[in-house]
Amino acid sequence: MKGKTCLITGATSGIGLVAAEELARRGAALILVGRDPRRGAAALKRIKSRVPAAQVALRFADLSRFGEIRRLAAELLATAGRIDVLVNNAGAFFDRHALTEDGVERTFALNHMGYFLLTDLLLARLREAAPSRIVNVASEAHRGATLDFSDLAGRNGAKGWPAYRRSKLANILFTAELARRLEGSGVTANCLHPGFVATRFGDAGNSLATRAFIGLAKRVMAITPEEGGRTIVHLAGDPAVAGINGRYFIKSRAAQPSPAAQDAAAARRLWEESARLAGLAG
Ligand code: NAD
Repeated sequence: MKGKTCLITGATSGIGLVAAEELARRGAALILVGRDPRRGAAALKRIKSRVPAAQVALRFADLSRFGEIRRLAAELLATAGRIDVLVNNAGAFFDRHALTEDGVERTFALNHMGYFLLTDLLLARLREAAPSRIVNVASEAHRGATLDFSDLAGRNGAKGWPAYRRSKLANILFTAELARRLEGSGVTANCLHPGFVATRFGDAGNSLATRAFIGLAKRVMAITPEEGGRTIVHLAGDPAVAGINGRYFIKSRAAQPSPAAQDAAAARRLWEESARLAGLAG
């Protein structure tokens, strides 16, 4: 990965942090996007202590807000130089309904619109660096979910697992449509399920009962962030993945997502509606 720059969102904890560290070990320069300067400083310190030669830049943004994503993208385009790999990883689960300042349910806003808008704003830079890669962290939680195009932004009370599962279905459909649009450009887009991983997932902004339930499940069943980060690193950096476009991976192997996640018409419509929500041309 020497000479390559990897931009990773949600990189100050969990699988994003572990993947960032491994990519630095392989020689990549890193741009870590986080929200909390304190956790950002801790992530920087940890990577530097384990990979002393690591080149790491930190950026901060709330990726559930369109204005913040636009500010971040403008900053990156002005300062970052080349971007060879974009890892859209920042995501969360919320057990209570809330709308962002853009009028979008916050799970959909962060988990899908965050990926969609940041990718769109950085795409020209990724094209310039081709062969380059986009990696979207999705989840097996997408199985059984369908999109509700009558209320895609989730204004009518979407929350909890239904909202989370839909957002992760959106990650796979977004990847498929992005890959289709990128065909022949030298930029590839793939997505993945990292496994059920013991991270900070579910800890922030949820009720005590939800935190206790997810916490118990993590203690009993979850894999480590190191294991969970492997498929991100595989898709971001392994030569074996060169040229593979539009696939869904589990444990570093291509896998079949649900039938709803293979619906090309839904993928196209999701793109168009997301562009409209974000105020883009489409
Ligand atoms: P985590 O909570 O440890 O990490 C999530 C990261 O996203 C953090 O760095 C956090 O700061 C960042 N983030 C959250 N809200 C943000 C916001 N508004 N703006 C900017 N950044 C924000 O959890 P994780 O498990 O490492 O999650 C990473 C990804 O993996 C998510 O997309 C999640 O949906 C996915 N995933 C996790 C699991 C699991 O079992 N942990 C399973 C499947 C998929």
